[in-house]
Amino acid sequence: MYAKRLDNLPPYLFARIDEMKDEKRRAGVDVIDLGVGDPDLPTPPHIVETLCTAARDPANHHYPSYLGLPTYREAVASWYKGRFGVTADPKSEVITLIGSKEGIAHVPEAFVNPGDVVLATDPGYPVYKTSTLFAEGICHPLPLLEENGFLPDLASIPKDILEKTKLFFFGYPNNPTSAIAPLSFFNEVVEFARENNIVAVHDNAYSEITFDGYTAPSFLEADGAFEVGIEMHSLSKTYNMTGWRLGMAVGNKEIIAGLGRVKTNIDSGAFDAVQLAGVTALTGPQTCVAEACSIYQERRDVLVKGLRSLGYEVQAPKATFYVWLKVDDSMAFAARLLDEAGIVATPGVGFGASGDGYVRFAITRSVERITEAVGRMEGMRR
Ligand SMILES: *Cc1c(COP(=O)(O)O)cnc(C)c1O
Repeated sequence: MYAKRLDNLPPYLFARIDEMKDEKRRAGVDVIDLGVGDPDLPTPPHIVETLCTAARDPANHHYPSYLGLPTYREAVASWYKGRFGVTADPKSEVITLIGSKEGIAHVPEAFVNPGDVVLATDPGYPVYKTSTLFAEGICHPLPLLEENGFLPDLASIPKDILEKTKLFFFGYPNNPTSAIAPLSFFNEVVEFARENNIVAVHDNAYSEITFDGYTAPSFLEADGAFEVGIEMHSLSKTYNMTGWRLGMAVGNKEIIAGLGRVKTNIDSGAFDAVQLAGVTALTGPQTCVAEACSIYQERRDVLVKGLRSLGYEVQAPKATFYVWLKVDDSMAFAARLLDEAGIVATPGVGFGASGDGYVRFAITRSVERITEAVGRMEGMRR
């Protein structure tokens, strides 16, 4: 019944954990879900207010423009200027996305021919691989290893792979490893993309979720980045707006135009009222972002300290709302965590083969719940 391309999709490895979670809940267990990469905090009220007002205005009830509302794209450009010192032309170098997932899912359609190779960091956001498969490309995973600070080793990619490579997906601050990348790595990517004629697609969903005074760079700060690539960004994680579906792609004109051509034929843009709320988010006071970060930072400290007190070795992440913990077998550990402690964490292998041996905790629950989780883990066999 289904097309081959659906059969070609990787198995959904989180299904077993999802099933177990439902079973536990049905059995009356108070499950602590540290699995979801979705902020538990609400969207700041000033942003919600703009949506309410804009939703009442009939001018916003029509089809949006394909490329996005000019005021939203201008707000994105001025946010990039203020935040990263990056200059982008809102007309040609910025496009509105219905969440950055949408951009990641569509970009291979514009650049990948059947049989072309797409490089993607592994473990990685699963859409890098599935969007490649939908475009009938071949995904070549780049292992992220702890000894390399979870950065890919670009020099180790075989020449015959590089000759067939069209596109490269990567993202720092990284989901799921929570690793960060210095600007020097982005400079290296620009060189690499230029030499090998590769479209570089940086996924920067977590640049604003940072701790201990760390400020994350944009890929577009790298010299020459506008010649080779684009950056996908999103309001989802920064402003607790996952449900609103609003993001942006910024960077190279031709790449943005290619993505735009695909989108024009598939979707009809993001709701104008949502884009206007996005303008408020990007141009309004940013104290809400600092407050969210301080909440995540406190949670991170409680979880990391707790895990260490139980004898686990774990890094305190400088960014993202994830803690990446080394374990023996990621699937078995996640299953035991749920079975013996009623805690959901995501098995690393679900993000790619190189994620095996890790689990990901999302600190999208309160300090009280995280404290409770650590307490329950004390009773777990190691
Ligand atoms: C959350 C996330 C996204 C997608 O976010 P949107 O809600 O679609 O904007 C993209 N990449 C990574 C790594 C993410 O964690």
